[in-house]
Amino acid sequence: MSDVSNSQLPECVDVLIIGAGAAGLMCAATAGQRGRSVLVLDHANKVGKKILMSGGGRCNFTNLYTSAENFYSRNPHFCKSALARYSQWDFIALVEKHGVPYHEKTLGQLFCDNKSKDILDLLLAECRAAKAQIRTRCAISTIESGQGGYRVETSLGTVRCESLVVATGGLSIPTMGATGFGYEIARQFGLNIIPTRAALVPFTQHKRQLERQDSLPGSALAVMASCGEGSFHEQMLFTHRGLSGPAVLQISSHWREGEKVTFDLAPDRDLADWLQQRRRESPEAYLHSVLAELWTKKLVQFFLQRQHIDSRPLKQFSEVELQELGVKLQTWTLVPAGTEGYRTAEVTLGGVDTDQISSRTMECKTQPGLYFVGEVLDVTGWLGGFNFQWAWASGHAAGEAA
Ligand SMILES: Cc1cc2nc3c(=O)[nH]c(=O)nc-3n(C[C@H](O)[C@H](O)[C@H](O)COP(=O)(O)OP(=O)(O)OC[C@H]3O[C@@H](n4cnc5c(N)ncnc54)[C@H](O)[C@@H]3O)c2cc1C
Repeated sequence: MSDVSNSQLPECVDVLIIGAGAAGLMCAATAGQRGRSVLVLDHANKVGKKILMSGGGRCNFTNLYTSAENFYSRNPHFCKSALARYSQWDFIALVEKHGVPYHEKTLGQLFCDNKSKDILDLLLAECRAAKAQIRTRCAISTIESGQGGYRVETSLGTVRCESLVVATGGLSIPTMGATGFGYEIARQFGLNIIPTRAALVPFTQHKRQLERQDSLPGSALAVMASCGEGSFHEQMLFTHRGLSGPAVLQISSHWREGEKVTFDLAPDRDLADWLQQRRRESPEAYLHSVLAELWTKKLVQFFLQRQHIDSRPLKQFSEVELQELGVKLQTWTLVPAGTEGYRTAEVTLGGVDTDQISSRTMECKTQPGLYFVGEVLDVTGWLGGFNFQWAWASGHAAGEAA
């Protein structure tokens, strides 16, 4: 039996899920395994596109250290119940049950050894075992509630359902099928939307700054990126449009237009102390060659030029001069021009306000039988497998109840 069929839509199902992404497929498998009749509809030509493109093609499917602290939401407690009832260990057990090989890359991030498709295949196998039906290329036009359920008009026909699950994801990567349809459904039923914005997204820089950095695209270094209450110690990467890399993606979730971002360029040491020490050990060594122990030659040149510092043997700098120089070189503060926006963002901050959603079941408190799961909700994870873990956990919570 194929996973995704083109046959006629059933007239009536127990659970209708809009969106065949990570959360929708997990919800379908869970509800189907409870004996519910399940139909998943997606307007795209293929299911699980973001799963396929995730983690550079290897899907960072969860994080060993997942906790509520790894998520942004107006209500930081909302995600706790679902994450506790379907944890990273539950998803790892599922991955192992299907014999998908995986490894920890760094910081608890679990990736497939082979390809992201292994995760999609696993979900489709679970859906198949649960007899959940899936249809692609299906546009949904109207949704009406009444008679103890919902009536959904689609390009493939009309379907009635008892429970309707909205799993349409966020706004990032519109070319992959992302739409704001889930927010429209929420508004239709009187729910509030927390303003959305692109997150886990590269920064763009002004033209003049890019000209100064024109030798740097491709250069990377470890930094501590800070903005507002956020601080992340990870790699930063210079690009042709600005700055990227895990540290930048992470801090972009804290940044707002016009705000400064501070990068500690040598987060493992106090540069002033270290330069003094290097001066005692190697007084004849030039400043630029000592700094090349920390950064690439291109980066050393850029950071020295930025501060108008000429390289000389360390013994030619006084203690005070070296102290000042260390402080100057340690930190880079800048105001990004903007972000690359939804075109390349990994996720969307904001979404359906969780105040009106049950944290146990994902059901809307004011609209029985209507559920929201995954990224469409105002729950956004850090980089590192947390967003998928939220999709699994919230999809599972709804699948147990819908
Ligand atoms: C490039 C990239 C890499 C990523 N890598 C990772 C990673 O390695 N680890 C991680 O944890 N997270 C990663 N993410 C984030 C992760 O992919 C999402 O958080 C996750 O897919 C959200 O799951 P979801 O089911 O809520 O939404 P999605 O997976 O986006 O699924 C939503 C589905 O709804 C469908 N849909 C949308 N609108 C409609 C409509 N109007 N009618 C019918 N169907 C509709 C879409 O076609 C889609 O199939 C990445 C994201 C991107 C963009």
